[in-house]
Amino acid sequence: MTIPRSASVEIIAVGSELLTPHRQDTNSLFLTARLNDLGYAVRFKTVVGDETAGLALRLGEALEQVALVILIGGLGPTEDDKTRSAVARALGRRLVFRPDILKTIEERFRNRQVRMTSPNRRQAYIVEGAAVLPNANGTAPGQWVRAGSKTVVLLPGPPHELKAMFDKSVAPRLERRRAGFIARRALMTTGLGESALESLISGLYPKAGGGLDLTILASPGQVELHVVSHSRVSRKLAEKKADGLAARLRSRLSEHIYSDRGESLEESLARLLRDRKMTVAVAESCTGGFLGHRLTAVPGSSAYFLGGFIVYSDALKTGLLGVPQELIQSAGAVSSEVAEAMAAGTLSRTGSDFALAVTGIAGPGGGSPEKPVGLVWIALAWRGGVDVRKSLFWGRRELVKFQSAQKAMDMLRRHLLQPEAAGNRDVT
Ligand code: AMP
Ligand code: MG
Repeated sequence: MTIPRSASVEIIAVGSELLTPHRQDTNSLFLTARLNDLGYAVRFKTVVGDETAGLALRLGEALEQVALVILIGGLGPTEDDKTRSAVARALGRRLVFRPDILKTIEERFRNRQVRMTSPNRRQAYIVEGAAVLPNANGTAPGQWVRAGSKTVVLLPGPPHELKAMFDKSVAPRLERRRAGFIARRALMTTGLGESALESLISGLYPKAGGGLDLTILASPGQVELHVVSHSRVSRKLAEKKADGLAARLRSRLSEHIYSDRGESLEESLARLLRDRKMTVAVAESCTGGFLGHRLTAVPGSSAYFLGGFIVYSDALKTGLLGVPQELIQSAGAVSSEVAEAMAAGTLSRTGSDFALAVTGIAGPGGGSPEKPVGLVWIALAWRGGVDVRKSLFWGRRELVKFQSAQKAMDMLRRHLLQPEAAGNRDVT
């Protein structure tokens, strides 16, 4: 998106541990959300180990690209805390000792009746010309450094220190020179592949330069459309722009969108069932309870979810749901007929308004040329009808289970939106 340069940010997370598989940079996620609210856009995120040269190099490069660089961490009292010296080196400034900071740190220790050790003196050095950002939750103060038209901000690594400092000292400063407003909308779709969706929305991609951006995030069983807009003038204008594109997308994609506020599929299905005061029960073979788990992940699910059966074995399909043994033998456990019988059995045994039944081959073993891994039959039954669908899902076991649950919930969702369309027996 065309964010003005004055609103572009790079976040540099400092710490050798962040370059291992053991620790993740989570602070930048918090910062990104806050920065977006203030109208700033993160253009780059980098992770640099605890080394002065590498850090100074990266900071120099960042300052050529963005207006604001936020460094996270490396402000501790130990030898491996290099951020202060790296910033001084990159900006060609000295580090100055500030007795007042040392006094604050000493007081902090005294209040806790602990003796301060000499390494903490390191935290009393600031980059020449920096404004000191007090740390309410720790010893290392943050720093706000102006360098020409650019700004470098140093924040401590511990998340509770960083968050408090950002909200108290950084956000108000950024607010004062706010570069604009950002609005976001997340449209959630399922039941449509990425390329099918792409062709439905062709022509709606915003042109570069208009402060409007559309990103498609595809994953198995779900495609999200993220609209981001920027206005230099007002939040209202940014929201109007985002809503305009969201509305155009909605009119093209209509029922394929299950939420325009970023909800999960189970949440939006919950809303539909609750509004209609209807109930659902499930029969699960290959999903092994995952469908029930997702339906009950929503608070208040007892209003519409009655319960279900995990019928992994043929014996339980027959014993608990009354699926005829001969049917399983003739059609196979993974078949349209058995899915339908499972749904019918669930409906009659629970008295629910709807029953969803899933039977399939999650893999990696158990497939055959006629019934490959990923083959899943899903039945939706209600009083007066049944809808049975065949799917062939890609991916490993968990993905087959996820997509099966996704498809099952989507069948019910679409049925609730247009009951007349699914009123007849419909086998595809
Ligand atoms: P430091 O200021 O580099 O001494 O970091 C102190 C502690 O803050 C580290 O041990 C981490 O647990 C945590 N930390 C540092 N950087 C991050 C980050 N980017 N995201 C989350 N936690 C961090
Ligand atoms: Mg560190």
